[in-house]
Amino acid sequence: MPSHRNKHIETLAVHAGQPVDPATSAIATPIHLSPTYERTAEGTYPHGFSYSRDDNPNRHALETCVAALEGGERALAFPSGIAVAAAVLQAMKPGDHVLAPEDVYHGFRRAVSGVFDLVNLEVSYIDMSDPATVEASIRENTRLLWLETPSNPLLKITDLAATTAIARKAGILTVCDGTFATPVLQHPMDFGVDMVAHSSTKYLGGHSDVVGGVLITGKDNFIFKHARRSQRLGGAVPSPFDCWLTLRGIATLPCRIRLQSTSALAIAEYLDQHAAVEQVFYPGLPTHPAHDIARQQMSMFGGMLSFLLKDGAEKAIRVAAKTEIFVRATSLGGTHSLIEHRASTEGPLTRTPQNLLRLSIGLENTEDLIADLDEALR
Ligand code: PLP
Repeated sequence: MPSHRNKHIETLAVHAGQPVDPATSAIATPIHLSPTYERTAEGTYPHGFSYSRDDNPNRHALETCVAALEGGERALAFPSGIAVAAAVLQAMKPGDHVLAPEDVYHGFRRAVSGVFDLVNLEVSYIDMSDPATVEASIRENTRLLWLETPSNPLLKITDLAATTAIARKAGILTVCDGTFATPVLQHPMDFGVDMVAHSSTKYLGGHSDVVGGVLITGKDNFIFKHARRSQRLGGAVPSPFDCWLTLRGIATLPCRIRLQSTSALAIAEYLDQHAAVEQVFYPGLPTHPAHDIARQQMSMFGGMLSFLLKDGAEKAIRVAAKTEIFVRATSLGGTHSLIEHRASTEGPLTRTPQNLLRLSIGLENTEDLIADLDEALR
């Protein structure tokens, strides 16, 4: 991986962790399903693999690749994006305090309340887009700042440089969930973030055919060490086939996310001038409150956007019911464009506005997507 350091992201996406197979000269990385590896008569493991939960060639390849994409030292692959958050939170002690965004991906809150409820973990959900609020919310027992930018589903932007400077001063480690941005559009570590998390179910895998998550670190630290234990000793491991699928998806990530970003910007601009639309949330629009910060820390603005309908929840649900190309489904980052009434998915405790629709822009033609929305908005 260090030899890849001076390469561009398109090259890394194809080559990092994926050498031509030395055993067969196959270009496509082989899938190794074996849970166990033979020892030599002397008791060594010549290829470094002994038992698949500890490590296996496909997970190793994926971890090497995503570490290179983020410009990190090491990465860990998990069986889902939320398993990354769980592994990070497992590094907290009872009584520790965590700061997270108020509109954090709703599964994060559900994990905190449903899995860590017996641990006496204090989590404050705050407006992470305001560094002054972050500073004022830090306590003596704060051990982790969990960031998510752009956020799901309100596309809020965290000022990474300002926020991580505050965390560093207080000696607190930061993790940034960069799922919406991908390593192609945003490198949180360049702005002082300690670790980056992705749900690789989304853009990294990119084809809606695998669930996974990754955690990348710049330097080893107590949270990453504990997350590694959670993976290997706690058994939070993705299958070799899932790692293979994710890695295959990553090869086309740079092309996909740029196309999706271009399309999403055009769709955001279209919705922004539509009479039925109250507000559009997309960091690429100059009217977004953090557009300037987004421009500093992202090279493009991603394939996700949400918007509010003037005529309330009923209209939002009607619009989602009428689209023909946009598929009514949760999740994001795949080839198919998806439309979602997010509040219904999140359930009765949702904080998401009832008149909000979230769009994940896929790889279809932009004009076709706009025509589909135009018809549904009538
Ligand atoms: N982070 C973000 C921003 C997400 O949108 C999601 C899922 O939608 C997750 C994490 C959780 O990922 P997974 O569904 O792979 O567990």
